[in-house]
Amino acid sequence: MPRLLPLLTLASALALAAPAPAPKLDTSHQIQPSPLRQKLILEYIHQHYDPSATSINITPKMIVIHWTAISSLQSTLAAFGPDVLSGRDDIQRGGKLNTGAHFLVDRDGTIYKLLDETVMARHTIGLNRIAIGIENVGSGSLTAAQLAANQALVRYLVNKYPIQYLIGHYEYGSFRTSPLWEEKDKTYFTVKSDPGAPFMAALRAGLAGQGIKLKAAP
Ligand SMILES: [Zn+2]
Repeated sequence: MPRLLPLLTLASALALAAPAPAPKLDTSHQIQPSPLRQKLILEYIHQHYDPSATSINITPKMIVIHWTAISSLQSTLAAFGPDVLSGRDDIQRGGKLNTGAHFLVDRDGTIYKLLDETVMARHTIGLNRIAIGIENVGSGSLTAAQLAANQALVRYLVNKYPIQYLIGHYEYGSFRTSPLWEEKDKTYFTVKSDPGAPFMAALRAGLAGQGIKLKAAP
């Protein structure tokens, strides 16, 4: 059946070229910023970035990958739920706004959307007004399901926003001398190890296999 072959080949090529489906986003734990949280976000922006700012919105250009250093989903949700930061002596002087992220990926790969992508979350010093934060439940080693979910989520975000950079939190220091870095206090900085170099290498390799290449440094 020689005449069928070109059709089959075309069908296979179309299947390969078809855009991957958008990842399933679970919004059951999404935070609608309360008036208090909105006030604390703006206070953070005033203290760290721009005293005259009037907006809590961001323009995403970067994705920062994290791990939570908390072993369960429920404990992570409990940590990110409150508007006000508690504990965290290392960053208390940075303001009252609680830390948070736009997405949280559980060990089984379930993706929870926690915050609208264009509202600022406190997750990466210096870069919060350009960066979407993706947290992964766990520390030390993340799962294959989390890797697949992060890949799908990055692909989704790259198609939605003009994202140029993809970094692991441990890599953020290389932006301190970049014009992208907004932090006014030069001494406000914490050394990070999340989510580990092996996870970022695997994530980048997987994305490159799909033709997605993002910058890891300024
Ligand atoms: Zn982090």
